[in-house]
Amino acid sequence: MTAARSLKTAEELVSAGLIEPEKLPDIRAVADRYAIALTPTMVSLIDRTDRQDPIARQFVPDPAELLTTPEERADPIGDQAHSPIKGIVHRYPDRVLLKAVHICPVYCRFCFRREMVGPQGDGTLAPEELSAALAYIREHSEIWEVILTGGDPLVLSPRRLSTIMQGLADIPHVKIVRFHTRVPVVEPDRIDVTMIAALMESGKVVYVALHANHPRELTDTARAACARLIDAGFPMVSQTVLLKGVNDDPVVLGDLMKAFVETRIKPYYLHHPDLAPGTSHFRLDIAEGQKIVSALRGNISGLCQPTYVLDIPGGHGKAVIGESAARNEGGCYSVNDFRGEEHRYPPK
Ligand code: SF4
Repeated sequence: MTAARSLKTAEELVSAGLIEPEKLPDIRAVADRYAIALTPTMVSLIDRTDRQDPIARQFVPDPAELLTTPEERADPIGDQAHSPIKGIVHRYPDRVLLKAVHICPVYCRFCFRREMVGPQGDGTLAPEELSAALAYIREHSEIWEVILTGGDPLVLSPRRLSTIMQGLADIPHVKIVRFHTRVPVVEPDRIDVTMIAALMESGKVVYVALHANHPRELTDTARAACARLIDAGFPMVSQTVLLKGVNDDPVVLGDLMKAFVETRIKPYYLHHPDLAPGTSHFRLDIAEGQKIVSALRGNISGLCQPTYVLDIPGGHGKAVIGESAARNEGGCYSVNDFRGEEHRYPPK
């Protein structure tokens, strides 16, 4: 049965039969630290007879989240080190993240920004903060692309999205606006004509990067929501996190990549899971990831190949970690950032 509204508390998850009542104290402790939300669409996808259900694993909190390991950190990809002003992360020369909102329709249990998102998180930019962020973009002529992320930017109302897009419209050096979102999958009805009209308001080229991790997420309804975006002229790419117990299997991952391509979404990034607190139960070794990615290359179309990347802890940006790119040196990996500098993973 589809729930009528999002589930946001440990008690609601028990009532919905998604958590055994004896786990309630632990899940309450998890909820005190990390936000919870499952949309009705995601609840309806969960197979309650499967204790290892890959959809539940992504969204239903687990007592394992109470364990924080020494290498984990609150800001695993180092956003703060590259944030010149609230709401902006300027890590690479030609692009910035614009984090207008820190709310999501669902809260992924492995989220790399789990300390920043949610009702207790970094909130939504106030109008004057948004103006200051847009002024920063205007003053930096090297910024070619603005990536709206957060939080999930498509939780914003079409009115607020219009304001942002109109603000970007008169910045000539910004050519591309990219949205990172889970909305077409987790709340597909939000993608309607009003939202699409709002996304068109900048007159820029708009890309939409869809975050999805399991082929079952690409339902007919989700595919239809993506088709509305693509038919409106927004090319789509994918983002997937490689997660133990969700998609760490070449067949499952291959089916996901094929589902993206069938939906006219080009597979883009496959992220090695970040060192976010309380997420060690999702992490696999890079060598396992490389084996899975190699199996994809051998078995499915070149259109279906994502780039396997690691966000180097500390804010050093992404490194491609296909088999030849990450060197195993005595139990620790060595990777190069985009400037050619070498980094150890995990860091000392
Ligand atoms: S949608 Fe993105 S930002 Fe939101 S909880 Fe999931 S991974 Fe984190």
